[in-house]
Amino acid sequence: MNSGQLIDALNQADQDWNSNPDRNPTQNAVAWIQGMVDEVQQAQDMCTDLTDIIGRLGRTLGVDVEPHQTHTERLMDAAKGRLLTFARMSAINAERCLRWHEGGIEEWSISDWGVAFAGEAGEVCDAIKKLMRIRTGVENKSAIKTEDDAMAAIGTELADTILYADLLARRCGINLEHYIKHKFNEVSKKYGFPERL
Ligand SMILES: [Mg+2]
Repeated sequence: MNSGQLIDALNQADQDWNSNPDRNPTQNAVAWIQGMVDEVQQAQDMCTDLTDIIGRLGRTLGVDVEPHQTHTERLMDAAKGRLLTFARMSAINAERCLRWHEGGIEEWSISDWGVAFAGEAGEVCDAIKKLMRIRTGVENKSAIKTEDDAMAAIGTELADTILYADLLARRCGINLEHYIKHKFNEVSKKYGFPERL
């Protein structure tokens, strides 16, 4: 239901009340609004289903579309203050880090954070190795049994790698967001590409 239909419905409820004072116009309006809410919910469910289908199709084709988020979902996340930006991730990552390191990020040396980062990058490679075992039919006793499992593991370990890269940069006193933009744009410029961050 769009806003025009809602207004029509409210007008209809008003007319109903005028023609039959025993009817409660508020109840009519609430029923129509509930109908609208249900339709929005159905649309959201459809978006979720489509997201899932697109994700599966992408994996089948080997195209990276995961995690795919519709524009509506992004808007909803933004409205709920959950939209993921680099700055938000970094701030919350630093906050959570204090749960393991009460003395702050300085508790570990740059080398310590570097090793943690490299360890996660190694876990990405390990997940890729398991994917290759699955694809080539090599004996596989890992808990990762399917390509979907392997892709999920790759995604999980990539996330760990990014989170540790952020902590390593913080320990170095580096603004990683600045360097990502700078490096990306520098390479685009070098190759004559129009993309800029
Ligand atoms: Mg990990």
